[in-house]
Amino acid sequence: MAILPILTYPDKRLRQVSQPVGEIDDKIRKLAADMAETMYDAPGVGLAAPQVGETIRLVLVDVAAREDEGSRDLQVFINPEILEAEGEQVGEEGCLSVREYSAPVSRAMKIKVRAMNLDGETVEFEAEEFFARVLQHELDHLDGKLFIDRISPLRRAMYKKKLKKILAREKKNG
Ligand code: ZN
Repeated sequence: MAILPILTYPDKRLRQVSQPVGEIDDKIRKLAADMAETMYDAPGVGLAAPQVGETIRLVLVDVAAREDEGSRDLQVFINPEILEAEGEQVGEEGCLSVREYSAPVSRAMKIKVRAMNLDGETVEFEAEEFFARVLQHELDHLDGKLFIDRISPLRRAMYKKKLKKILAREKKNG
């Protein structure tokens, strides 16, 4: 396994629409394993393939540690689709691809999802609250969307300003 570099905004590769996964082969299994290591190292509760430069419809989610520190429940979703969405929740989001920023984002409270797992089996399930939020966030990545696209234009402008400073600071420090 290997820790992969995570692309960050404004990298254009984050804006591409990802392609469906065809066959689940060793390459896909290795990518999922590397992504898992990358996600736990970050650490994060979700990671989408385009964040590591692979524009395919594959996401990883593990929300177990939020309830019980140290516990793990890795879930891999291939070609995931939201079949139904209802209700609303607003909560703070951050992203491994959006540096040094978090903001409140509105999402559906409850969703019904269909996806494939790493064994190629189709699964259908309902997700609510935080799990639903993480899934919606990760699925957005597959369509080239970031959570900062879902905040107010004023907040987004403030973040762009802040990012400019971060980038200038990094440049100065070499
Ligand atoms: Zn993200």
